[in-house]
Amino acid sequence: MSCRTCELRPKAHSFYLLREPINQTKVFYSCPAKALDYWDGPGISKHIHGLLNEHEFPEWIWHIDAEDFAIKHAIEISSAMDIISLFRSTPEIGERLRQVTILNPNWYIRAWLTAIRPFLSFELQKKIVFSDAALSTGNPE
Ligand SMILES: [Zn+2]
Repeated sequence: MSCRTCELRPKAHSFYLLREPINQTKVFYSCPAKALDYWDGPGISKHIHGLLNEHEFPEWIWHIDAEDFAIKHAIEISSAMDIISLFRSTPEIGERLRQVTILNPNWYIRAWLTAIRPFLSFELQKKIVFSDAALSTGNPE
Protein backbone atom coordinates (compact mmCIF):
# COMPACT_ATOMS: atom_id res chain seq x y z
CA MET A 1 0.00 0.00 0.00
CA SER A 2 1.60 3.20 -1.18
CA CYS A 3 -0.87 5.54 0.54
CA ARG A 4 0.42 6.93 3.84
CA THR A 5 -3.04 8.00 4.93
CA CYS A 6 -4.48 4.51 4.42
CA GLU A 7 -1.51 2.89 6.14
CA LEU A 8 -2.58 4.75 9.27
CA ARG A 9 -6.32 4.66 8.65
CA PRO A 10 -7.18 1.82 6.24
CA LYS A 11 -10.71 3.05 5.63
CA ALA A 12 -9.73 6.63 4.74
CA HIS A 13 -9.92 6.11 0.99
CA SER A 14 -11.65 3.37 -0.95
CA PHE A 15 -9.66 2.14 -3.93
CA TYR A 16 -8.13 -1.28 -4.06
CA LEU A 17 -7.36 -4.21 -6.32
CA LEU A 18 -10.45 -6.38 -6.34
CA ARG A 19 -8.97 -9.64 -7.49
CA GLU A 20 -6.17 -11.04 -9.52
CA PRO A 21 -7.12 -10.93 -13.15
CA ILE A 22 -8.03 -13.98 -15.19
CA ASN A 23 -6.49 -12.23 -18.16
CA GLN A 24 -4.27 -9.17 -18.15
CA THR A 25 -7.02 -6.79 -17.07
CA LYS A 26 -6.95 -5.78 -13.40
CA VAL A 27 -10.13 -4.81 -11.62
CA PHE A 28 -10.07 -2.05 -9.03
CA TYR A 29 -12.92 -1.25 -6.67
CA SER A 30 -14.11 1.90 -4.94
CA CYS A 31 -17.09 2.51 -2.71
CA PRO A 32 -17.30 6.23 -1.89
CA ALA A 33 -19.72 5.56 0.98
CA LYS A 34 -17.13 3.31 2.65
CA ALA A 35 -14.36 5.91 2.42
CA LEU A 36 -14.12 7.86 5.67
CA ASP A 37 -12.23 10.66 3.86
CA TYR A 38 -14.50 10.75 0.79
CA TRP A 39 -13.97 14.54 0.75
CA ASP A 40 -10.15 14.22 0.48
CA GLY A 41 -9.79 14.66 -3.28
CA PRO A 42 -6.01 15.27 -3.33
CA GLY A 43 -5.41 12.27 -1.05
CA ILE A 44 -7.72 9.99 -3.06
CA SER A 45 -6.00 11.01 -6.31
CA LYS A 46 -2.59 10.27 -4.80
CA HIS A 47 -3.87 6.93 -3.53
CA ILE A 48 -5.22 5.95 -6.98
CA HIS A 49 -2.06 7.08 -8.75
CA GLY A 50 0.20 5.29 -6.28
CA LEU A 51 -1.70 2.01 -6.38
CA LEU A 52 -1.96 1.95 -10.17
CA ASN A 53 1.79 2.59 -10.37
CA GLU A 54 2.43 -0.43 -8.15
CA HIS A 55 0.90 -2.71 -10.74
CA GLU A 56 2.14 -3.57 -14.19
CA PHE A 57 -0.77 -4.25 -16.49
CA PRO A 58 -1.98 -3.18 -19.89
CA GLU A 59 -5.61 -2.54 -18.94
CA TRP A 60 -7.77 -1.92 -15.92
CA ILE A 61 -11.44 -1.77 -15.05
CA TRP A 62 -12.81 0.44 -12.27
CA HIS A 63 -15.86 -0.70 -10.35
CA ILE A 64 -17.43 2.22 -8.48
CA ASP A 65 -19.99 0.92 -6.02
CA ALA A 66 -22.76 3.44 -5.40
CA GLU A 67 -24.18 1.53 -2.46
CA ASP A 68 -25.17 4.10 0.18
CA PHE A 69 -23.96 6.92 -2.09
CA ALA A 70 -25.80 9.93 -0.68
CA ILE A 71 -26.14 13.67 -1.04
CA LYS A 72 -23.03 14.28 1.11
CA HIS A 73 -20.97 12.30 -1.43
CA ALA A 74 -22.68 13.85 -4.45
CA ILE A 75 -21.82 17.40 -3.37
CA GLU A 76 -18.09 16.56 -3.16
CA ILE A 77 -17.58 17.66 -6.72
CA SER A 78 -14.06 18.86 -5.86
CA SER A 79 -13.01 15.27 -5.06
CA ALA A 80 -14.21 14.20 -8.50
CA MET A 81 -12.40 17.15 -10.08
CA ASP A 82 -9.15 16.13 -8.37
CA ILE A 83 -9.48 12.63 -9.83
CA ILE A 84 -10.31 14.09 -13.26
CA SER A 85 -7.14 16.23 -12.95
CA LEU A 86 -5.17 13.06 -12.31
CA PHE A 87 -6.57 11.55 -15.52
CA ARG A 88 -5.63 14.72 -17.40
CA SER A 89 -2.10 14.95 -16.02
CA THR A 90 -1.43 11.22 -16.46
CA PRO A 91 -3.12 10.29 -19.76
CA GLU A 92 -1.93 6.66 -19.69
CA ILE A 93 -4.24 6.04 -16.71
CA GLY A 94 -7.28 6.89 -18.82
CA GLU A 95 -5.89 5.20 -21.92
CA ARG A 96 -5.42 1.92 -20.06
CA LEU A 97 -8.86 2.18 -18.44
CA ARG A 98 -11.18 -0.14 -20.33
CA GLN A 99 -14.39 0.45 -18.41
CA VAL A 100 -15.91 2.22 -15.42
CA THR A 101 -18.74 0.14 -14.01
CA ILE A 102 -21.20 1.93 -11.73
CA LEU A 103 -22.57 -0.74 -9.41
CA ASN A 104 -25.86 -0.34 -7.54
CA PRO A 105 -26.57 3.00 -9.26
CA ASN A 106 -28.97 5.29 -7.46
CA TRP A 107 -30.39 8.77 -8.07
CA TYR A 108 -27.54 10.55 -6.27
CA ILE A 109 -24.71 8.99 -8.25
CA ARG A 110 -26.60 9.63 -11.49
CA ALA A 111 -26.95 13.31 -10.48
CA TRP A 112 -23.25 13.42 -9.53
CA LEU A 113 -22.26 11.93 -12.90
CA THR A 114 -24.45 14.43 -14.70
CA ALA A 115 -22.62 17.22 -12.86
CA ILE A 116 -19.11 15.97 -13.69
CA ARG A 117 -19.83 14.62 -17.19
CA PRO A 118 -18.95 17.91 -18.97
CA PHE A 119 -15.46 17.67 -17.48
CA LEU A 120 -14.85 14.14 -18.72
CA SER A 121 -13.30 13.48 -22.10
CA PHE A 122 -15.61 11.95 -24.67
CA GLU A 123 -13.44 8.81 -24.59
CA LEU A 124 -13.90 8.51 -20.84
CA GLN A 125 -17.66 9.16 -21.00
CA LYS A 126 -18.05 6.25 -23.42
CA LYS A 127 -16.37 3.90 -20.93
CA ILE A 128 -18.94 4.45 -18.15
CA VAL A 129 -21.56 1.71 -17.84
CA PHE A 130 -24.22 1.07 -15.22
CA SER A 131 -24.71 -2.34 -13.67
CA ASP A 132 -27.36 -3.43 -11.24
CA ALA A 133 -25.75 -6.79 -10.85
CA ALA A 134 -24.59 -7.61 -7.34
CA LEU A 135 -20.88 -8.11 -7.00
CA SER A 136 -18.80 -9.95 -4.47
CA THR A 137 -16.13 -7.52 -3.35
CA GLY A 138 -13.73 -10.15 -2.04
CA ASN A 139 -10.97 -9.08 0.28
CA PRO A 140 -9.08 -5.84 -0.12
CA GLU A 141 -5.47 -6.30 -1.06
ZN1 LIG B 1 -5.40 6.05 0.67
